[in-house]
Amino acid sequence: MSEPTQAPANAAYEVAKVRVDALNDRAREHWRSDSRNALALCEEAFTLAMSLDYRLGSARSRNIRSRCQLRLANPEAARNDASEALAQFEALGDEEGTEDALTTLGLIALNLGHFTEALGYFLASYRLCRGRGDRREAIALGNLGAVHDYLGDYATSLDFQLRSWSVSKGCGDVLGEKVSLNNVGYMHHRLGQFDEALTHYFRALTFEGVGDPNLHALLLDNIGLAYEKLGDYASALSYQQKSLTIREALNDRWGIGASLDGLGSVYTALGKTTEAQGWLERSLTLKEEVGDKKGQAETCVLLGTLFTREGQLERALHYLHRARETAEALASREDSAKAHRALAEAYKRAGRFREALGHYETYHELRDELLGEASNQKLRTLRVRFETEQAERERELYRLKNVELAGVVAELEASSRSLQEANEQKTVLMAQLEKQAREDPLTGLPNRRYFSERLAQELGRARRFGSSLSVALCDIDDFKGVNDTFSHALGDEVLRVVAKLLDENSRVVDTVSRYGGEEFVMLLPETSAPAAAVACEKVRRAVETFPWSALHPGLVVTLSVGVADDAMVADLEALIALADAKLYEAKRNGKNQVKV
Ligand code: GH3
Ligand code: MG
Ligand code: MG
Repeated sequence: MSEPTQAPANAAYEVAKVRVDALNDRAREHWRSDSRNALALCEEAFTLAMSLDYRLGSARSRNIRSRCQLRLANPEAARNDASEALAQFEALGDEEGTEDALTTLGLIALNLGHFTEALGYFLASYRLCRGRGDRREAIALGNLGAVHDYLGDYATSLDFQLRSWSVSKGCGDVLGEKVSLNNVGYMHHRLGQFDEALTHYFRALTFEGVGDPNLHALLLDNIGLAYEKLGDYASALSYQQKSLTIREALNDRWGIGASLDGLGSVYTALGKTTEAQGWLERSLTLKEEVGDKKGQAETCVLLGTLFTREGQLERALHYLHRARETAEALASREDSAKAHRALAEAYKRAGRFREALGHYETYHELRDELLGEASNQKLRTLRVRFETEQAERERELYRLKNVELAGVVAELEASSRSLQEANEQKTVLMAQLEKQAREDPLTGLPNRRYFSERLAQELGRARRFGSSLSVALCDIDDFKGVNDTFSHALGDEVLRVVAKLLDENSRVVDTVSRYGGEEFVMLLPETSAPAAAVACEKVRRAVETFPWSALHPGLVVTLSVGVADDAMVADLEALIALADAKLYEAKRNGKNQVKV
């Protein structure tokens, strides 16, 4: 009897869920171009999802709402929403959502100029889709490219964008390809290769009808910027105009601001002050209306620069101080640095050298901070690349082993042995395979993948029980020299001996793994960094005093170690990064030592 009444109720529920999805989809489509309306859409989706107790729906609404908030310059609200969304996706076991929320958190951090944090989120997101060869992986690679752009490491950024492009091509995602071509072009622009940039932009333009008009307008804007750099101002103006026309038709007010800045900048270069001022002031007003604070800081710098050139110093200072204050309020070091550099120029022109010097100093401090982060990240990027390739190799190996395994099983079955026997054989092979997947073949130590799993577990445990956990990165000193002077075979032997020494000189509860090449890593549970340093010192001495000359006359081997514990870091990434930084210190300080 209950069925007829139940059915419509269920149907209504399903319809309401579909409505939540549809609202979220629409909000998602427009969060960039029309953030206010998109915000209203996901608010509606969120309320409806909550009333239905439709958790996946509400998590998605939160995630998009977060992006809208970010566009509307509310980073705090954005961060709250994204963190909530992440927790919800994780609780629901929704991998795609988790990855998406991590990306959102990365975009927020990027916007605030917290590059390390952004990189952490993008990496975490990338790990969830690495090797899939799909659209999601292409997007994740593109984001990693974007962080490196912000870090000023354009070459690495370009590399990521090229990889993103190749993934898009590989999976036949034409929209992704068009977006990547734009990004690759833009990185060439950043590298000062403007012709190369144009080649890629024009190639992207051949994908007619792919993507939305916003993307088309962005391409035209970028073409304009490249022409401006090449000194072809007529073409620059023409493309910026076309871009502006499209954006006006779309009422894409964020985009319009960018086009207006582009026009203002070309007119500034042409020395046409009045026109430049007109476009830039219009841009500023618009950005105020939209609530684009970062954009305001950028336009204020352009206006300040324009007035500095014109010798109107009071007006220049007015805009530049406003840019500085806005950048500071947003905690954006990149924009602060730009404002301080422009302020230094303005004060210099005014003959106020003491103030000019102050701003130059601040500019350099900010730049050093940014670049310091950039160079630290470089090491990490290399590591990510290594990890990616390693993961790909392991997957291929696993596939081949499976093929082999299937062959063995078929053979066993064919030779009319009992199925049970075959299965036993299969189990043994499976166990071997599993062991191989965890083990480094050269040294027999656990490999990096096993180590990462253990580290995640141990870190979780340490957090739950409030105990400490240390990580020690050990790198053989001048190992290249061992290979070069003696032989690669002897190098391998040294690696085996060092592995054995590390293993013998550590506790049972410690995990010693081969991290890669001539690097090893130790995980010391229930141990703070100072205590770990004592343990590592023992290991270091064991390596130093081993009778290496018995292996080969003249052979000397030493070890540098960097130690960090979890007391002062936010996550696993940061723990490894800190140990890495300490290792670098040990190297720089003369090698053959332990640094905490
Ligand atoms: P540093 O003291 O600064 O660490 O110098 P290094 O020479 O140890 O470091 P570098 O990174 O320049 O060289 C590491 C070398 O390790 C280069 C590479 O050929 C060698 N290597 C990596 N894996 C293996 C391996 O499995 N076997 C052998 N024999 N050599 C390896
Ligand atoms: Mg090394
Ligand atoms: Mg080394």
